[in-house]
Amino acid sequence: MKKKDLERFAARLRDEKAKVLNHSEKTKHEELTLSTDDLMDEVDLASSELNQSVALRLRDRERSLLHKIEIALAKIDAGKFGVCDSCEEPIELKRLEARPVAELCVRCKEAQELEEKLYA
Ligand SMILES: [Zn+2]
Repeated sequence: MKKKDLERFAARLRDEKAKVLNHSEKTKHEELTLSTDDLMDEVDLASSELNQSVALRLRDRERSLLHKIEIALAKIDAGKFGVCDSCEEPIELKRLEARPVAELCVRCKEAQELEEKLYA
């Protein structure tokens, strides 16, 4: 991915993070201040955690989004942003534009959603 695009996504993610933090200021949690080391472990766990995020309440959704933003920012730092967690192919730029926290490419996302439908 071009450096210019990366910087643009980083700015969007930081902006998004600030918004979520602002919104959930009254419901602060220790988890919001994860260290970068923790986050790098979390990146490996990210795909399994996706499956758990189906029926979360609003505050949990915010925390979940924040978590994904942190992972995405950590990936930018690690030079791994925009790579599919599943097949390790680059995620479509258009998909990232619509959803910068996307962890899967369109193909893997569709496969995952199909699986969720079948086994939910
Ligand atoms: Zn993929």
